[in-house]
Amino acid sequence: MPQEDDCLRAVKDFVRTELLSGKHDLDSLTTLPMPVYEAFAETGCANWWLPKEYGGAGKGLEVSVDIVAELAYGDAGVAFALFISLLSTTALALYGSDDLKTGYLTALAAGNGFAATLASEHEAGSELSRTATTVRREGDTLILDGHKAFSTNTAFAHFVIVIARSADNEKDYHAVLVPGDTPGLLVDKRWNVIGLRASGTYQVTLDNCRVPAANLLEGHGLRILEAGLNTSRVLIAATAVGLARRIRDLCMDYAKTKTVKGAPLARNDVFAAKLGQIDMQIAVMHDQCRTAAREQDEIAARPDAPAHLLRQGALKSAVVAKMFCGQAGWRIACEASEMFGGYGYTDESPIGKLVRDMRFASLIEGGDDVLRQLLYTRFVIPPAKRS
Ligand SMILES: Cc1cc2nc3c(=O)[nH]c(=O)nc-3n(C[C@H](O)[C@H](O)[C@H](O)COP(=O)(O)OP(=O)(O)OC[C@H]3O[C@@H](n4cnc5c(N)ncnc54)[C@H](O)[C@@H]3O)c2cc1C
Repeated sequence: MPQEDDCLRAVKDFVRTELLSGKHDLDSLTTLPMPVYEAFAETGCANWWLPKEYGGAGKGLEVSVDIVAELAYGDAGVAFALFISLLSTTALALYGSDDLKTGYLTALAAGNGFAATLASEHEAGSELSRTATTVRREGDTLILDGHKAFSTNTAFAHFVIVIARSADNEKDYHAVLVPGDTPGLLVDKRWNVIGLRASGTYQVTLDNCRVPAANLLEGHGLRILEAGLNTSRVLIAATAVGLARRIRDLCMDYAKTKTVKGAPLARNDVFAAKLGQIDMQIAVMHDQCRTAAREQDEIAARPDAPAHLLRQGALKSAVVAKMFCGQAGWRIACEASEMFGGYGYTDESPIGKLVRDMRFASLIEGGDDVLRQLLYTRFVIPPAKRS
């Protein structure tokens, strides 16, 4: 029998002792559960995907799917806070200079730190080519100015990757590494989000933010972002898997106590059919995540991975995994919440929080309207007719 991954084993213990034990408030808008993040670092698995050459555990995306699904079973906000640094570390590992990678990835691994990505803007929305944040060069310095609408982990990030347009040529887009303590990198506010409250998402301003020119990543900024999204989209999908499993188990617990027509709900045929359907959907969701993760792991192992991903951009399997898991997860959450009757619409039942948490999977890193259009223009239209 294959041995269980060491991090996956440690994560299961962490979920049981820290997330499911009720010790921490994981739904607060006033405080972030920093002690939970610190407890996770003590497992030795923080930033588990960072390459071994920089002091990380070097785990691939396929095992990350299982790690994140376990974390999300315990709490989706904690899972999100703990894995979303992957988006910026992937961009750095693929397109940063050797000095930049050695400096920042090593420090992140050693300090169990966090990284963030600053892409979204209020005005541009998902049309990232309308990004208004600018970067200009003055000698050996890059200067960034602009406003970023949403960015998770920025308030305590060791570094952030900023997507910006060249101030000199509006058709040029860049990705720039900005250390978290750079003057001019300003957190405006933490958003009052409806779910994932164990993570912090912020509105950020870049005001005359100066970094060395060597902090520029090599390649087209929007394609660099797409290369990173190929990994984080799969883990957003895996979060939906973990949430769906938790919802299924919660339904089973409830059905043992609820009586319908003189028998426990768990013995009712309608209930059995619903739970069978949910379990089938969870299995397909998990398979889709694994398929996408395996493709990404195979590409990452190739010596030409950076160039390949700049050409390819978004991987279809990652987009499909996020869309499918977001949609299936949402159906499961809605169906399950109805099962709890009026009780399910109160704060006395955990199902309400799980519904709020599940909503994120279809919204972030591209809503479904945007991703449907991406699939159409990149994969449905014949190659010769693509613009
Ligand atoms: C909790 C949370 C964490 C986040 N973390 C980060 C982060 O770390 N870094 C970061 O950069 N961003 C982050 N985001 C931003 C997130 O990725 C975006 O909000 C999301 O991708 C949706 O983009 P948008 O807000 O620009 O809305 P839009 O994409 O502009 O969508 C608004 C509306 O316009 C419609 N629409 C848009 N484009 C089209 C189209 N082509 N065709 C038809 N309809 C369209 C949409 O369907 C929707 O109805 C986060 C957001 C949240 C809520």
